[in-house]
Amino acid sequence: MESHLSAALEYARSFLHEGAVATYIPELAKGDPTQLGAAIYAADGEIYRVGDWQQEFTIQSISKTITLILALQLAGYRKVFSKVGVEPTGDPFNSIVRLETTAPRPLNPMINAGAIATASCCMGGRDAFSEFLKLTRRLCGRSSISLNEEVYRSEKQAGMRNRSMAYLMQSDNLLECDAEDALDLYFRMCSVNVNTMDLARYGMVLAGNGKDPETGEQLVEGWIVRIVKTLMVTCGLYDASGEFAMKVGIPAKSGVGGGIMGSVERKMGVAAFSPGLDAKGNSVGAFHMLEYLSHHLGLHYFAGSECRV
Ligand code: GLU
Repeated sequence: MESHLSAALEYARSFLHEGAVATYIPELAKGDPTQLGAAIYAADGEIYRVGDWQQEFTIQSISKTITLILALQLAGYRKVFSKVGVEPTGDPFNSIVRLETTAPRPLNPMINAGAIATASCCMGGRDAFSEFLKLTRRLCGRSSISLNEEVYRSEKQAGMRNRSMAYLMQSDNLLECDAEDALDLYFRMCSVNVNTMDLARYGMVLAGNGKDPETGEQLVEGWIVRIVKTLMVTCGLYDASGEFAMKVGIPAKSGVGGGIMGSVERKMGVAAFSPGLDAKGNSVGAFHMLEYLSHHLGLHYFAGSECRV
């Protein structure tokens, strides 16, 4: 395993020049595009790490999976899926167009509009961000996980597209609270600092059907885990979800902070990080690390067949 991880690192490093850090959130532009790391949390409790695995970065869209878990726990299936659908869009993560042309309800919870609507379902008079942070810490197994204030402020200031979507959805009665409150919660959720080890452990919780891999405690109900992993397969990598499914074949979610979290059924959680992104907003380094690991460890969901990618 150690040697596969090192080889994956070298393979992915050769693609890093193809990526560029996100600049539309000014704080993210400070990321170092040469950083690259990964971690695996295996079902037997073994942990494997390589490169800049310990580097913290903001969770960004990977938070959308946790937002969905929390919303389903707090507001239930009917409420959440009355606000957001479950179909892939084929559009960029921050696209606004479908809210007008397809249906007012955002197509799925893994795009910005869908996550803002999902976040609004968590409000209900409680301190939703505290609940989110508590859940994130439990899933990742680290109580020191916290908000990156600089990124949060930067997102809030620069997030005009997200603001437009939220107001449009509010005008269609799709938010459970005021647009600014939903946005503030969404920006905070995206701005939590994690590292690959945190995300690999979270991936293992999902891979183990919601059970804490150390204590066996059921952290997330099985029906919710199934919904989240399904949406990771179909919508987890924005409008590159099909390509990722074909080349890597692991339920996963990416974020513009440079992370990708993956969950290999019953076997492992795996996460990779590198701040340089491709044109669709996915980390070039993380994508290639996961591609390498999937091939060499046989992690594709259809692993039995020959791979020609
Ligand atoms: N906070 C980012 C945004 O709203 C999240 C985008 C992402 O990671 O895909 O634009």
